[in-house]
Amino acid sequence: MTRKPSTTLIHHPYRAPEGWDAVPVPVAKASTVLFKDTADLHKPRPRDGLSYRYGLHGTPTSYTLAARLATLEHAEHCLLVPSGLAAVTLPSLAILRPGDEVLVPDNVYGQNRYLTESWLPQWGVTHRFYDPLTVPDLRDKTKLVWLEAAGSITLEFPDLLGTLAACRARGITTALDNTWGAGLAFNGFEPAPTTHPGLGADIVMQALTKYPSGGADVLMGSVCTRDRKLHDRLNHAHEHLGYGVGQNDVELVLRGLSTLQLRYEAQDRVTRQLASWMAGRAEVAQVFHPALPGSPGNANWLAVGGAGAACLFSVAFKPAYSAARVDAFVDALQLFGIGYSWAGPMSLAVPYDMSRSRGLPLPFDGGTLVRFAIGLEDVADLQADIAQALSALA
Ligand SMILES: *Cc1c(COP(=O)(O)O)cnc(C)c1O
Repeated sequence: MTRKPSTTLIHHPYRAPEGWDAVPVPVAKASTVLFKDTADLHKPRPRDGLSYRYGLHGTPTSYTLAARLATLEHAEHCLLVPSGLAAVTLPSLAILRPGDEVLVPDNVYGQNRYLTESWLPQWGVTHRFYDPLTVPDLRDKTKLVWLEAAGSITLEFPDLLGTLAACRARGITTALDNTWGAGLAFNGFEPAPTTHPGLGADIVMQALTKYPSGGADVLMGSVCTRDRKLHDRLNHAHEHLGYGVGQNDVELVLRGLSTLQLRYEAQDRVTRQLASWMAGRAEVAQVFHPALPGSPGNANWLAVGGAGAACLFSVAFKPAYSAARVDAFVDALQLFGIGYSWAGPMSLAVPYDMSRSRGLPLPFDGGTLVRFAIGLEDVADLQADIAQALSALA
């Protein structure tokens, strides 16, 4: 039978030879996954990362990334989702039912706050925000407790061990936003194996958008678990919410993973240098960085090993400097971009009016602070840039 090109170009007999092997993982893209025959189609396929059914649920490329991230996080299972925000919404949507209560730290990532306050109530889920430095009060209807270490913008490091122990004692599921720690600063599933053996979060998620990508280009998230039943529940929601990822983006995150630790450590070093230097400046009221003595939650960070820290610090200027002067300082910076996200190559600075975004008392006087995200530039150049911009404060 002679077939036309429109057919033969699709049903072509040539197959590339087996045995291709190289350092990078090939990019396997698909919506359709082909079955051998109808018997193969009818066979049950457990969604365990070992078989293929439809491109939305994974290809060899995304399964490889998920397996590497599970190792990084000391987990058994990992689901990839299209953004860090999707990794925040997945656990809440998968676990909470009408009548349940979710607890969220007051310094949680802003979009988690929005989900909790503005979306979950329409499904009959109630919430309370808690002070991240204390162990929240748990009730019978509390079904999920979020933790974020360190929390967003003000970077208080929570009482992870105390809160995890209290939740564990009552059988309450815990979800940790581990974007800051990137799976390197501490182990979310076992943050203190010697003092608190067996204690850890049930779910550990990350915005891969930050460190694992490292390029300020990809948006993606991961949701890791150790418990099979919990993974199945999350996986069920993952499938039915359509949370697939693009394989070209997966390729970029796989590429970023190779340099993850090098970048984390290098950015940590420079960030601590700049944060300590800022803490000594006359214009500054307080610097927030979990490794700085006196920064809120410093003891909690030490309790989980006090090892690595992310490339973030925030600066509260003395209340004498108005929000407009703080804006002028940020505008005067030449090497710092003004924009969201972090852990990419370019340093960033963003002023935040905290009085509008939090419910509980703030850990500093005054409303405006600047969050710095340190990139990969030279430390002396960054310090000189901040020093020249400080004259715009006056
Ligand atoms: C950035 C961030 C997220 C969300 O990630 P996106 O990929 O931007 O959606 C979630 N949690 C934390 C702590 C983050 O910093």
